[in-house]
Amino acid sequence: MELHQKPYQFIEHTASLCAVCHRRVDAKIVQSGKGIFLLKFCPEHGEQQEILEHDAAYFLGRMRYTKPGTTSKLQTKRKLGCPFDCGLCPEHEQHTCIGVIEVTSACDLRCPVCYASSGSGAPLPLETVERMLDFFVDSEFGHAEILQISGGEPTTHPEILDIIRLARQKPIKYVMLNTNGLRIATDEAFVKTLSEFVGGFEIYLQFDGFDDAIYRHLRGKALAEIKQQAARNLTRHKIPVTLVSTIQRGVNDHEIGKIVEFGIRTDGIRGINFQPVALFGRTREFDASNRLTVTGIIEAIEQQMNGMIRKEDFLPLPCNVDRVSITYLHKSRGAFVPLTRSLDVGNCLPAIRNTFSFDPEEFLKELTERASGSGQACCDYLGALKDFSKFIPKSFFLKSRHEKIEYVSANTFRISITSFVDARNFDMKSMKKECVHIITPELKKIPFSAYNMLYREAT
Ligand code: SF4
Ligand code: SF4
Repeated sequence: MELHQKPYQFIEHTASLCAVCHRRVDAKIVQSGKGIFLLKFCPEHGEQQEILEHDAAYFLGRMRYTKPGTTSKLQTKRKLGCPFDCGLCPEHEQHTCIGVIEVTSACDLRCPVCYASSGSGAPLPLETVERMLDFFVDSEFGHAEILQISGGEPTTHPEILDIIRLARQKPIKYVMLNTNGLRIATDEAFVKTLSEFVGGFEIYLQFDGFDDAIYRHLRGKALAEIKQQAARNLTRHKIPVTLVSTIQRGVNDHEIGKIVEFGIRTDGIRGINFQPVALFGRTREFDASNRLTVTGIIEAIEQQMNGMIRKEDFLPLPCNVDRVSITYLHKSRGAFVPLTRSLDVGNCLPAIRNTFSFDPEEFLKELTERASGSGQACCDYLGALKDFSKFIPKSFFLKSRHEKIEYVSANTFRISITSFVDARNFDMKSMKKECVHIITPELKKIPFSAYNMLYREAT
């Protein structure tokens, strides 16, 4: 449907990029029917239109949840304007919640949808990685939230265990190893060694479904059994896992519910992150006009989970309401139930820090402080405090830090959806709020989407 000439409801202006030449162009966000679209015009390449969200009601209500960004140290100056000044430049509106260090560009797969076009390449020396870690921590004023050790395939790095050891010594709350799972499935001694890092350490396991046809399409190989074996090995060694699923319409969107069910019933799997495929790197064969969005995936979860998880259980993540949606399930009498059924998160937003990693202890402390003030807001906090306290047994507070992390991991299940921005769905506002940043060897922090769109070759 061509919208430029048709009636629609205007929502707001923004800036975007021409999908062909990547020059910055004016754009508007509009509603048509149930969908939200981005309309833009490039003097050279003409009118362009892209779906932003499938559920206008969610999109229009998301601002209730937004919070001001958190600051981080800056590395560049304002010169050409977003997204050409990364980074971080003074225009960026969010700190680095997740710092990604790509320790090698080598990989034992050649995925047709690899955003990094990984394959061959040299591993980074340990000293370089340490310099990047120190830079990441310093840029977050001495305490970083989440590190993802990535690649290429990081488990092919000859010093990967030393890298993880090094990262665990730094003031970083969580360390994640992003892996395709090939080595995890076949090298049990390696998995056993990884289990020594448990407690603020987890595996971010690429997992796209249960059918070899899916893997042939997305990963270039039949990998269904390898992925199952990787999950089994990690479970056996009690290593927490978050599954990360790249979802492409017509390829594996029909397995979204099955992936959630698998995650929930498999001990040790603590969450899933769904990512609609984006036009980066090697991704070519992809009809972006029919792309999945955050709300497209939420709808699929609701339909495929028979109401066990509903649309209303998903909330925009306050630090980037445009691009990330999340729900937490809590274990109650052996079953997982969305936390939103008992807690009005909207009432306690200021008490939630700008981070992906939820810490109930910090949250309770914040709520208690805010509830002891005066006025209507305090009543809301008091109500939230009562509701939330029901989920936390008294014995929780007597546990060690390591045991607390374990308790939270074992009793909660997180489903998040992250939609990265490519040149077609580029909305400058959401770009500026992106909190997943690539830490480069040149000691810059470049938002993940901008890096894959514009910087990967140049840095
Ligand atoms: S994406 Fe962020 S860091 Fe990069 S140019 Fe835009 S505002 Fe600056
Ligand atoms: S997506 Fe991951 S596993 Fe696939 S080629 Fe790229 S780095 Fe390797």
